[in-house]
Amino acid sequence: MRVARWEAIRTIQLDEVEEPTPGPADVVVDIRACGICGSDVHAYTEGTWIAPGAPLGHEYAGVVSKVGVDVSNVVVGDRVTVNPIAPCGTCQRCRAGEGNLCSHLDGSAGGFGDQVLVRNANVGQRLFILPDHVSFEEAAFLEPLSVAYRAVDRARPHVGEPAIVFGLGTIGQCVAQILKARGVTDVIAVDTSPVRRAAALAAGANEVIDPLADDVYESLAASRGRTTSSFHEAGAIGSVFECSGAVSVLPTALRVARAGAPLSMVALTARPSVIDLDTVVQKELRLLGSFAYTELDFRNAFALLAAGRLLVLPLISHRFALADITDAFEAQRQTTSSIKVMVHP
Ligand SMILES: [Zn+2]
Ligand SMILES: [Zn+2]
Repeated sequence: MRVARWEAIRTIQLDEVEEPTPGPADVVVDIRACGICGSDVHAYTEGTWIAPGAPLGHEYAGVVSKVGVDVSNVVVGDRVTVNPIAPCGTCQRCRAGEGNLCSHLDGSAGGFGDQVLVRNANVGQRLFILPDHVSFEEAAFLEPLSVAYRAVDRARPHVGEPAIVFGLGTIGQCVAQILKARGVTDVIAVDTSPVRRAAALAAGANEVIDPLADDVYESLAASRGRTTSSFHEAGAIGSVFECSGAVSVLPTALRVARAGAPLSMVALTARPSVIDLDTVVQKELRLLGSFAYTELDFRNAFALLAAGRLLVLPLISHRFALADITDAFEAQRQTTSSIKVMVHP
């Protein structure tokens, strides 16, 4: 079977390797669809968070092809998606229910390949059996949907107040959808890419703004009003989601928020950034880092997808065969034209 491994900057090799054999508690999944993640692109272009020879791809779904002797509830032929994050379950943060902050976080990458070995494949924890109406491509969105679910859950937005999402890559798009699915009626989405803005509108965002054409703060002040806040001019946005990773967004993100609003920070910037702490202090903004997701976030995102409350297929901008994995990564790198690139073995 084939597996795509990162070798060097902008170099991925498709290696032929032996098919995996499951241990007693493991299963093997034949991959049917795997999405390219923003973190995969960072690895590909900059070599961040990866070592030479490491397999890529953690957003996948497929069919169970081998089952370990101790595995129950799963049979060969089941259509599944996999929670690729495997927390240890015993460290301090795991015991507190924060497996995303586990000190021994393990995972099962290799989704850009023909098969993946999933260790300790418990149903409802690592492995999720797909209802017939959920396609492999939709299920491959579960991982970014779980990241988005956590970002929204951390903020606990008031449903009656406008929410804003900066950055409409896959995570920002998923955040916008989770907000709608959780009952937030007014979702505003900001991105410079017309392709990404159009997809957000198609998937249910109430308004999209091009920050190169319009002043985001002034435009929202005109449409959604201003609030009074000691020492600061402030917008009326009830919750803010930073999914762009662009440090230039931060002053606007702080300014549009009403006093006391949550700011959920999901994107990594890969470099230190400066923020106006006086605004954070005096408006009592709640700055919330949100990293990956817990098993509970994954289950909750799965429930929303299975219930038909999320519309992810319009987010697929390109499809490639595994043999063309380098072309797939080059397409994903083009942030103005791509949203989610999907790879099929
Ligand atoms: Zn991902
Ligand atoms: Zn742990």
